[in-house]
Amino acid sequence: MYKRENLNILLEKASYRNADLKNSKVIVRACLNVPLDKKTQEITDCTRIDEALPLIQELAGQSKRIVIMAHLGRPAGKDPSLSFAPVVKMLEERLGEKVYLVENLDDIQSLSGDFEKDKRVFLIENIRFFPGEKSKDQEERKELTDQLTKLGDIFINDAFADYLEPGKTTASTYDIAKVLPSFIGPVFAKEVKAFANFSNPARPFVAVMGGAKLSEKLLALNSLLEFADKVIIGGAMAYTILKAMGKSIGNSLIEKDLVESAQEMYQKFSSKIILPVDHLILDKFEEPSEQNKVTVQDDQNIPDGKTAVDIGPKTIELFKTEIQNTKSVVWNGPMGVFEWEQTCKGTREIGNTIISLSDAYKLTGGGDSISAINKFGLKGFNHISTGGGAMLAFLSYDSFPTLDVILDKYQV
Ligand code: AMP
Repeated sequence: MYKRENLNILLEKASYRNADLKNSKVIVRACLNVPLDKKTQEITDCTRIDEALPLIQELAGQSKRIVIMAHLGRPAGKDPSLSFAPVVKMLEERLGEKVYLVENLDDIQSLSGDFEKDKRVFLIENIRFFPGEKSKDQEERKELTDQLTKLGDIFINDAFADYLEPGKTTASTYDIAKVLPSFIGPVFAKEVKAFANFSNPARPFVAVMGGAKLSEKLLALNSLLEFADKVIIGGAMAYTILKAMGKSIGNSLIEKDLVESAQEMYQKFSSKIILPVDHLILDKFEEPSEQNKVTVQDDQNIPDGKTAVDIGPKTIELFKTEIQNTKSVVWNGPMGVFEWEQTCKGTREIGNTIISLSDAYKLTGGGDSISAINKFGLKGFNHISTGGGAMLAFLSYDSFPTLDVILDKYQV
């Protein structure tokens, strides 16, 4: 769990409200990493845009100029399918003014005109298209950082969610804060305060984990296993662990290079880990149809040639029993392919069980969890975080680099 003395005082001092917005050109790191339809590339859930909007609105109205940086998806270089074009359209509609999408950072200076009269809003194209953003090459990183720092007098980080594993910082969330006077935005501050409330959770404390990518959650999962009383694991990430336990997993989605780490984790924490005991399976990993019917696999082993796509009915009951009577719950990630009608039941039922706990502190977060919450109309969480990985990291590690780099500046 993140620890910092005088956290609330430091957050107060670092608040963007203390910045001289009126006389500043502001460069802001927002979280606009919205989920996109895999086929049409349309935005399927706008929660993150809506969360980011109040600060953008305030800055567009008050500051001399606003330049927004954000990332979308995980492009390996420039990838037109992960352009911010659809996000810009939505931002413009909501803001009611032109938002300039720029890829060449020099364009910002030339398009800016007279700042005093002409307050313009710029969005830099997906910051992960810029090799310097995540580069290990210090020169490449510095080149981008130098360009970015020229675009603002002050930096505001409002992207709590855009967090990478410890040691893996980026130019737009970390390096820039070392150079410019820097502040914390309202979404970031709200998240940090909500999690700080969780530093000493009422017990039993259960974490419910799902989704596809164990790789993105493994480090946090190990720490969470130390801290929580039980960890329930569904979604595709469960199959990598089942494989590590020697179960057959058929053609289900796994991360082969993680089997060994999953085995170590399971050996260490087997008494705390609850895994699926049955599954919904398909012949082909395609949306279920007459030719590709969903069936129940009433066993933990998945037959050769079959693909598991959701938790089965026995697992739903098992997970429900484990969740009942808990006093603190964290939920991150779907239990199956919740985007398909016939394989969304596990996620819906587990979500419903969590919100029906009247007496527990209920925390959730992450892009896909938010989509599931909106899809199933799940109401009653104490806090819904914009960040999944970030939420887990905050609960798991004692430091949070993108926050600390700013708070360090206010430490006396
Ligand atoms: P993540 O980004 O790691 O949180 O994963 C979210 C994605 O995991 C969603 O798009 C789900 O469709 C997918 N997912 C969950 N369970 C399964 C499964 N059993 N097989 C394939 N994909 C899954």
